[in-house]
Amino acid sequence: MTVLLNPGPVKLSPGVRRALAGPDLCHREPEFAGLQDRLRRKLLAVYSLDPDAWAAVLLAGSGTAAVEAMVASLGPREGRLLILENGVYGERITRMAAVYGLDHRVLHHEWGAALDLEAVERTLAADPAIVQVAVVHHETTTGRLNDLAALGVLCRARRVGLLVDGVSSFGAEALEPLAWGLDACAATANKCLHGAPGLSLVVLRRDALGAAAAPPRSVYLDLAGYCRAQDRRDTPFTQPVHLYHALDRALDEFLAQGGWPARRQCYRRLAGRVREGLAALGVEPLLTDAETSAVLRAYRLPPGLDYATLHDGLKQRGFVIYAGQGALARSVFRISTMGDLGMEDMDRLLDACAELIAPASTPPP
Ligand SMILES: *Cc1c(COP(=O)(O)O)cnc(C)c1O
Repeated sequence: MTVLLNPGPVKLSPGVRRALAGPDLCHREPEFAGLQDRLRRKLLAVYSLDPDAWAAVLLAGSGTAAVEAMVASLGPREGRLLILENGVYGERITRMAAVYGLDHRVLHHEWGAALDLEAVERTLAADPAIVQVAVVHHETTTGRLNDLAALGVLCRARRVGLLVDGVSSFGAEALEPLAWGLDACAATANKCLHGAPGLSLVVLRRDALGAAAAPPRSVYLDLAGYCRAQDRRDTPFTQPVHLYHALDRALDEFLAQGGWPARRQCYRRLAGRVREGLAALGVEPLLTDAETSAVLRAYRLPPGLDYATLHDGLKQRGFVIYAGQGALARSVFRISTMGDLGMEDMDRLLDACAELIAPASTPPP
């Protein structure tokens, strides 16, 4: 079977795949409510959140649905949202804010750049209308892990809320929603949690939801409505029951394997092997180890090798890698180590890379 090294959907474990064939349930019956309660509890347990103060809200849709629900439901009703961009996903938040007509302002960074926290501080100081900041935790565009701990300090000092797109970090990176002052964090079943695609979630501070009690901006993506219904052991709309089964099993495996620190370490070990192997072939990472998430690394395409050739050659050999986006499409490729992968997969990947890269970078005789 082809090994997926794209940043979601990921290779499922055999147990999660079996769970997909779990029982058909009516979403209005107590069996479903029990499953939903269990999932919501386990999702809060990922980062040890107090269920009295926090809620996990489940919704059908890919990660973007969760981010959009978060922005539409928790974005400011009065006051301005400051969006920090340093890649595709931050820019997507800006599109959402525009579509929903939120009063917003953007602090743009080049893709891959670190957040300029001094500029954030200056912007917050100069514009007292800003009541909330939105940011991506792991910018999957480049692999950059944004420093939310430091950003959280700035936001808390000014009593500014924080919305986080944690879609590609939730479950594999340190996240301290309470200490960092988060209002909410959007995530998905099918990235670091190793569930199946089509189910996403928002972990939110219940107080933040209270502040958003105004009329919803969306019918389907109204987190307040979902949260109220799920607290009553109900759901506003049909949920993807089999994806619930799969995530339930994936979370059992995740917690049994040691939670996010273990997952992070596992990803780092795999990614470290790939980085070393590629370095031996003369392939350079886009960012340093310290700047990158555990989840995904971007590499510079070696001179003389275009992405399509590398992608197609690896696919023939059983691996799917991922292209760079936008301006990086011609210069970068990405390898994610999420999913049910082992060191032997990385070793086989490197053997395949050696077949494709070594000839290309050897000067002609
Ligand atoms: C994957 C991802 C998303 C959501 O993408 P979908 O295709 O909707 O699942 C959002 N933000 C980040 C940072 C991501 O990596």
